[in-house]
Amino acid sequence: MTPGGKNINIQNSVPEAWREFMTLALDQAERAAEIGEVPVGAVLIDDQGGILAADHNRSVTRHDPTAHAELLVIRAACLKLGNYRLPPCTLFVTLEPCSMCLGAMIWARLTRLVFGAFDPKCGCAGSVFNLAEEKSFNHTIEVTGGLMKEASINLLRTFFGSRRAKQLRLPEQPDIIRHHFE
Ligand code: ZN
Repeated sequence: MTPGGKNINIQNSVPEAWREFMTLALDQAERAAEIGEVPVGAVLIDDQGGILAADHNRSVTRHDPTAHAELLVIRAACLKLGNYRLPPCTLFVTLEPCSMCLGAMIWARLTRLVFGAFDPKCGCAGSVFNLAEEKSFNHTIEVTGGLMKEASINLLRTFFGSRRAKQLRLPEQPDIIRHHFE
């Protein structure tokens, strides 16, 4: 059960490659923290195991509340492929996606989503809502949550902890998770 109390598939045994891809997403999250962005990273993997795109949150530096890691990798992959729909592929992201990103995943016809930490305040892949598996929509996404979540939570806690220590004002906009990691 998720913090929101809804059923979601948290697998203990996942393909080893999934951990490697999530490690890449975590690397991206670390890069985000290095430039003062909320540490969330994402990678998009095709069904042959190829990396279509990798990126991290850029909302603060771009002054763009939509520049979440998930949206950036979807945009990059669609541009690369010259198609507004994605081929069969899996999006790995270190934090449960928000409603905006889940909406984009549905429009892109994403096949599978694997995320790390749950977001009990904004997560829309099972925590607050489960838009990914909403049967009323014209597309559903297979979801696995909680993969390597400790590493993701540690990055977020360290990031917000160090910002507090420096007494820096937290950014106003895209900071979807600070309220429950502060
Ligand atoms: Zn988002």
